[in-house]
Amino acid sequence: MAKKLAEYEAKRDFKKTPEPGAKVPRKETKAPRFVVQEHHARRLHWDFRLEKDGVLVSWAVPKGVPADPKKNHLAVHVEDHPLDYIDFHGDIPAGNYGAGKVLIWDSGTYDTEKFSDREVMVVLHGKKLKGRYVLFRTDGQNWMIHRMDPPQDPERKPTPERIEPMLAKLVKKSPTPDAAWGFEFKWDGIRAEAYVEGGVVKLLSRSGENVTARYPEIHALGRALGSSEVVLDGEVVALDEKGRPSFEEIQQRMGLTSESEIRRKMKEVPVTYMVFDLMWQDGHSLLKEPYAGRRKRLEALKLKGASWQTPPYEKGGGPTMREASRKAGLEGIMGKKLDSPYEPGKRSGAWVKLKNRMGQELAIAGWLEGEGKRRGFPGALLVGYYDKREFVYAGKVGTGFTDEMLEKLSKLLKPLERKTSPFDRGTAPKDAHFVKPDLVGEFEFVEWTKSGQLRAPAFKGLRTDKPASEVVREGG
Ligand code: MN
Repeated sequence: MAKKLAEYEAKRDFKKTPEPGAKVPRKETKAPRFVVQEHHARRLHWDFRLEKDGVLVSWAVPKGVPADPKKNHLAVHVEDHPLDYIDFHGDIPAGNYGAGKVLIWDSGTYDTEKFSDREVMVVLHGKKLKGRYVLFRTDGQNWMIHRMDPPQDPERKPTPERIEPMLAKLVKKSPTPDAAWGFEFKWDGIRAEAYVEGGVVKLLSRSGENVTARYPEIHALGRALGSSEVVLDGEVVALDEKGRPSFEEIQQRMGLTSESEIRRKMKEVPVTYMVFDLMWQDGHSLLKEPYAGRRKRLEALKLKGASWQTPPYEKGGGPTMREASRKAGLEGIMGKKLDSPYEPGKRSGAWVKLKNRMGQELAIAGWLEGEGKRRGFPGALLVGYYDKREFVYAGKVGTGFTDEMLEKLSKLLKPLERKTSPFDRGTAPKDAHFVKPDLVGEFEFVEWTKSGQLRAPAFKGLRTDKPASEVVREGG
């Protein structure tokens, strides 16, 4: 027996780890026992152990014991463990072999149908696991574990490859009746769905691109979910110095592909995954479940970690929430009908978005030629403001005009033409037509970027009540 456990003993210092030592085993009970321990070691795995001849014959299963007979999982044969290990749970201190938390995931007894050094066939009678499994050796220490019985849960289905994200309609007023809607803050970042299985996370972008490698800090979410299989919906955000999601910041993480670049930027611009929906759970679709029910299940998962959160939602109270979002400098709010299903890829109106945009008067100082029938005429306006007598470039605005307004602007701007740039600061596009900055317009936009330009601006109308010389930057 000592020989059987020699490898187990050699790897551990029992003065430093709370794990049991290699003691002489007690008499075998009539029905041999098994345990599956969830082991949060450097890499999450599940240890599958069978009581046999006074020891626990053991395998480490990286993806856990499969629930589905269609999926075989790798099971790495490891050293026998002492029988006392069957009850072990707790923390193996850092620096020791297998350091990390150990939880008892399942336990029970089993019947042996076959037990050789190449093939082990057993019927498990656990609290979770019930049914016939076979472990068979493929190569050296590598075995596979396969469920021979049909799935325990006959309704169980494999996680889908992709669920297209549901979309929201942009609206101006908070939806009514207020009490029929749930409200969330709107997160200005990158939409991403997380597919989690066997402790491993896969992140897909809105278009279905696999962006897992781009956000390493979110990978540990898989570990937090243990053996749960889920599909989550959410937004990857980067917070600015005021703790608000900043689209400008997250853009720095978007295009990266090299691992070293990603690692470096991860320290400068860390991201947080804001989880707001749960569409799939443990072999079952939740698409038809109403929003309120999905949220309840999501909250039960208690997803709150260093790089992920489940921001709460409010039942009703849209206008109050909107005001709060405005005060907090957030992008806006989302309204989601409490009784609505998740409609992949649809913009049905069961989800709405209300944006808080900033307003600003700016002087029009030039224009860029439009395309197609707008060739030769303004397609976008160049705008600016005064800062201590210096005229500062604030960006170009290409949306928000009707054709009539463009014609009107064209007529108003022509007589103001000048050869040189009126800007004292900032860099206007080279192919611009410049004008004397006399006209003032009202513009809406999301935020001032760090470089002092408007993000996502739109033209709202001309202002005739204010001289251009009084146009200064407000807020932000
Ligand atoms: Mn282990």
